[in-house]
Amino acid sequence: MAEDILDLQEHCISLLEERGVTLDEIADCARYLQAAYHVDLTKEELLSSVRAVLSKREVQYAIMTGIALDKAAEEGKLSDPYLERLLMSDAPLYGVDEVLANGVCNTYGSIAFTNFGFIDKKKYGIIRKLNKAGKDTGVCNTFIDDIVGAIAASAASRFAHRWVRDGETEYD
Ligand code: MG
Repeated sequence: MAEDILDLQEHCISLLEERGVTLDEIADCARYLQAAYHVDLTKEELLSSVRAVLSKREVQYAIMTGIALDKAAEEGKLSDPYLERLLMSDAPLYGVDEVLANGVCNTYGSIAFTNFGFIDKKKYGIIRKLNKAGKDTGVCNTFIDDIVGAIAASAASRFAHRWVRDGETEYD
């Protein structure tokens, strides 16, 4: 069973990489979110938090669902052409992408939600890259940009909670 869970985590890391997202880039987004509180924090120090977020089953399901929808839209395989147009144009009022991402933040409390809102507006790093790549290019990044933002926001939240709890040390 433990092996199954690990496999699913590796599967999700591969899915993210296939869509051009590395754990390193997610950790950099998490670092950006913590930079105001921990000036010297490096992205390497946030990698264990990113991995911890990715170990959650609910997060893995959100990644699989979001990426499958982005790919299906891109390949013209969605059964509803109207939905396909919404996803391919990253329609601003669609909002289901943010709702799915909120499911990721759910596990990590209110700091994760506010962090997610913040980075979604700022579109830092890989999130900006994904957003740009998904505009009128035939690539659909409607779900993945929010999922990446939510993973980074959750990792930053996990770090913040551990920092307080463990007297200024973070560990796995
Ligand atoms: Mg989106």
